[in-house]
Amino acid sequence: MSWVTDHAPHPDDLASCVQCGLCLPSCPTFRLTGLETASPRGRLTAMSAVAEGRPVDRRFSEIMGSCLQCRACEVVCPGFVPFGKAMEGARAELAAQMPGPGRRLRRLVTARLLRRRGVIRMASALIALTQTLRLKYLAPRRMRGALSGLRPLSHRPPSPVGTTRPARGDRRGVVALLSGCVMDQWFGDVHTATIELLTRAGYDVTVPANQTCCGALAAHDGWADDARDMAATNLAALGGADLVVVNAAGCSAHMKEYAHWTEGGSDLAAKVVDVTEVVAEAIADGRLPRLHETGPAVAVQDPCHLRHVQRITHQPRKILEAAGLRTVEIDPAGQCCGAAGIYSLLEPELSGRLGQAKAEQIRVTGSGLVSSANPGCELQIRNHLSSLQIDARVAHPVELYWEALRSHAVEPTGR
Ligand code: SF4
Ligand code: SF4
Repeated sequence: MSWVTDHAPHPDDLASCVQCGLCLPSCPTFRLTGLETASPRGRLTAMSAVAEGRPVDRRFSEIMGSCLQCRACEVVCPGFVPFGKAMEGARAELAAQMPGPGRRLRRLVTARLLRRRGVIRMASALIALTQTLRLKYLAPRRMRGALSGLRPLSHRPPSPVGTTRPARGDRRGVVALLSGCVMDQWFGDVHTATIELLTRAGYDVTVPANQTCCGALAAHDGWADDARDMAATNLAALGGADLVVVNAAGCSAHMKEYAHWTEGGSDLAAKVVDVTEVVAEAIADGRLPRLHETGPAVAVQDPCHLRHVQRITHQPRKILEAAGLRTVEIDPAGQCCGAAGIYSLLEPELSGRLGQAKAEQIRVTGSGLVSSANPGCELQIRNHLSSLQIDARVAHPVELYWEALRSHAVEPTGR
């Protein structure tokens, strides 16, 4: 039946694959399985077959579903095939042509509930209660791993949503902070560190209440119309700022591609920066200080959507070094940890093998501290570190930097 939506993979994008196979060694699922159908080339071939009239069926769903959307294949592709865009299109077709109860439930969560701050607040309070009462075993088996990776949640965490904090020192402009779907409730310390650092780097920081989830999870799962709505809402809510700062790498990567998702989205996309970019820049030009003492080693994990999509590797390391920490590499190839949004729930076997491999790599470094700039990766890594009984803390680089400044009672210059 071929494609039925206007989100389908574009014929020119599919035709740009010359079948050279250079991407295969970089693809985590091909490396794990050795299967052509679990490789970027195989997945593009399957998309081309549908474009030529083959049906969107269960086999096609399996081939697309095992992709992590890590986009390591894009980095090495000589034809610049926009694989992530093609895969989002294929997933949109699956959502349209093979809707079933499982997919409808996923839509409810990724495209509907994640937009509702009140629902996230209630769910978070419930999770906090299960943590307090140690009732994790009541959760469905597949969710227990994800729950194990969570930080201890608070029943009523403070939230910066709806607030504005003025710049300290010389003012450089207004930053809008993406509050995110779960960052606000689950990673409040990362928001606190972000706001404290940005105000000291000379920015007014505003967290508009009318913003919503960035839409990355919905887009990756095929709910393209919902992802468009979310992009349009955020364009209206955040577009007036000079910069839009995002402290979850998957979200900053998605918002830098808003041109694809909403009319006028290119204007917002041009203002989006990952928090590691803006903090590293402030350290480089002296608006934020460097600590020179060499503290403990920190193992640096590169989230795929920071490393492969945004090509950011240098900045988190500079921030950690400015925190007085000694950076240690986990994996120079930057293979995916297997988190990949809701992949760990949908493909637990492949996700688990990648998570275990990442935890083993961390064990080899001997470090008791791990930095990760993406919440999904943090959960996955903490879960697998704990399952291998490796005692290491996982935190965001800006969080570690802010903690170091506070513990040394260093007041950033704010000039
Ligand atoms: S490297 Fe690019 S052009 Fe070559 S097979 Fe992979 S996707 Fe196709
Ligand atoms: S996005 Fe990642 S898992 Fe998917 S084909 Fe590319 S390299 Fe493989």
